[in-house]
Amino acid sequence: MGEIITIANQKGGVGKTTTSINLAACLAAAEKRVLLVDADPQGNASSGLGLSRADIELSVYDFLIDNIPLEQAVRPSRMPGLDVLPATTDLVGAEVELLDMEERESLLRRKLRPQISSYDYVFIDCPPGLQLLTINALTAGDSLIIPLQAEYYALEGLTDLLRTVSLIRRSYNPNLALKGILVTMFDTRNRLSHEVAEEVRRHFPGQVFNTMIPRNVRLSECPSHGLPIISYDIRSSGAEAYLAAASEILNGKNGTY
Ligand code: ATP
Ligand code: MG
Repeated sequence: MGEIITIANQKGGVGKTTTSINLAACLAAAEKRVLLVDADPQGNASSGLGLSRADIELSVYDFLIDNIPLEQAVRPSRMPGLDVLPATTDLVGAEVELLDMEERESLLRRKLRPQISSYDYVFIDCPPGLQLLTINALTAGDSLIIPLQAEYYALEGLTDLLRTVSLIRRSYNPNLALKGILVTMFDTRNRLSHEVAEEVRRHFPGQVFNTMIPRNVRLSECPSHGLPIISYDIRSSGAEAYLAAASEILNGKNGTY
């Protein structure tokens, strides 16, 4: 069965969606069958893979709340081997509807797990914040990747997130592994970037991807073209870095923490 990898950090704008799209695309390029679940009502992972609001008939909302089968709700992306379960702003409503349900933290897990046998990897792109959608994504995951922006306050939010992860392990998902912390938007010429990266490695030895994702303007351009970086500009530093991070996943160097 496919491995479910949740991409979470409650801080906004740290590279969750960029990481979800591009790791998913790099693994699809390695001939893995990959599904990206967009669990964010902002729908950035869906639009970043070329699905506009008008293209989306069924979404993760219909899958979660209306019991629409996964294969009916997923859409192929332009990248062979990569499907998307898209999100729209409807998903805000799911947050409210979940509140009234029993076992509300594990709905995504219960729906997703029986239906992913045709995929090798399933990525879940989380919204910012630690609301029920994020809790559902963490409960559904086999493992977690935490994108961490190389900037001054990066480590502060990490403590809160790791506390939530311990709670999820205790209450809903004892097997959730930390696949790794991925340093994003790393600026080689900025001393602070280097300091943050060193500090993260010091605090979390062996739990940080060797690869760091550089700040790369090509990465910020590709969502508006609806393409992952390896399709948009394979020679960019962003493409090189996400390919290297994906190969760390394939080689199983991570996931043992
Ligand atoms: P949110 O919390 O709103 O969901 P996020 O954590 O998903 O945000 P992204 O949307 O991936 O973060 O990234 C935030 C912004 O930074 C986007 O405009 C994205 O294109 C840009 N960005 C992400 N990673 C990089 C990078 N390595 N280099 C340059 N720009 C980047
Ligand atoms: Mg996002």
